[in-house]
Amino acid sequence: MFQAKAYSVTSATSPFARTTIERRDPTEHDVQIEILFCGICHSDLHQARNEWSGAMPTVYPCIPGHEIVGRVTKVGSAVTKFKPGDLAAVGCMVDSDLTCPECKAGLEQFCPKGVFTYNSPDKHTGGVTYGGYSDSIVVRDHFVLRVPSNLDLAGAAPLLCAGITTYSPMRHWNVTKGKKVGVVGLGGLGHMGVKFAHALGAHVVVFTTSPSKKDDALRLGADEVVISRNADEMAKHAGSFDFILDAVAAEHDISAYINMLRRDGNITMVGAPEKPLPVSVFSLIFARRSFSGSLIGGIAETQEMLDFCGKHNITADVEVIPIQKINEAYQRLLKSDVKYRFSIDMASLKNE
Ligand code: NAP
Ligand code: ZN
Repeated sequence: MFQAKAYSVTSATSPFARTTIERRDPTEHDVQIEILFCGICHSDLHQARNEWSGAMPTVYPCIPGHEIVGRVTKVGSAVTKFKPGDLAAVGCMVDSDLTCPECKAGLEQFCPKGVFTYNSPDKHTGGVTYGGYSDSIVVRDHFVLRVPSNLDLAGAAPLLCAGITTYSPMRHWNVTKGKKVGVVGLGGLGHMGVKFAHALGAHVVVFTTSPSKKDDALRLGADEVVISRNADEMAKHAGSFDFILDAVAAEHDISAYINMLRRDGNITMVGAPEKPLPVSVFSLIFARRSFSGSLIGGIAETQEMLDFCGKHNITADVEVIPIQKINEAYQRLLKSDVKYRFSIDMASLKNE
């Protein structure tokens, strides 16, 4: 075991504070990484505040962070994919059984024995896993990704969750040139959704509650922007979308968006609000529309997404912060005031 510096919360209401944790020494299939940047996902906030107490109750102390980019410092004897000095990335998963039908299909995120990067039982320590708000992490090699060398590292970190979570459903629902695609909520996930839909050739419409984000939406790749609180603007798009990606973290009127789909259109939820959303079943029935969900993406697809980003030079638009500003960043996340992802510069943890 070795000691790592980290920031943790000790209850649903306490602020983040500096702590020291134990990490395992790499076993034969492990990669040890010095973390350079870690994005702040709204899921980190949901988990830190125990907002998912039903499905995934938080175990304290909790150290979130699953948008990790860093440099390999040590590898186990059986690791061939990485060597010390390589750039490496870790997303939302750090282990799974690799033998079940889900894993064999490349969908490790649905493995019944999957281990998330934080707040999952940790078979090595007997406690729970600790995430990327830390100076280092040790991860099984299968779950470590390669980062294209042309990408800015602070902006690449959010690809590991916000990137794959928006890329995967767009590939699954066949977003291509000529399709009309909506993205609801211009936050960390939403702004990546806009970049991907645009890069895939779709006609992209952003739905936002924040009129101040209109120019940014257009700059990020949207063809049109709708202020979702304006009923007239909303009505213009009724029955017209092939696909809508909903990345909203709070309660909202999902049926208004279902009605915007054309026949056989699909709306996929990636946002994970605390409370259930009421759905107008008639809106689904009358045009054979579908309403579905999507969880991050498998490891092979995550690598495909990173390579796609390398090729198209896509990274998140980030506001880089020192880790000492994390509590302030959480307050701003709650106010939808992020342009468009916070990325923690882990160098700020060095002298603490
Ligand atoms: P975020 O940066 O906070 O963005 C959420 C956006 O939702 C806000 O910027 C805002 O956009 C919009 N919004 C917020 N409150 C709203 C309200 N009351 N009504 C309507 N719109 C509202 O969050 P994020 O990191 O992108 O995460 C979004 C959600 O996805 C979270 O629930 C997170 O847990 C979930 N998530 C799911 C997965 C998955 O695998 N499915 C992965 C990662 C995250 P505007 O200002 O444009 O309206
Ligand atoms: Zn996330």
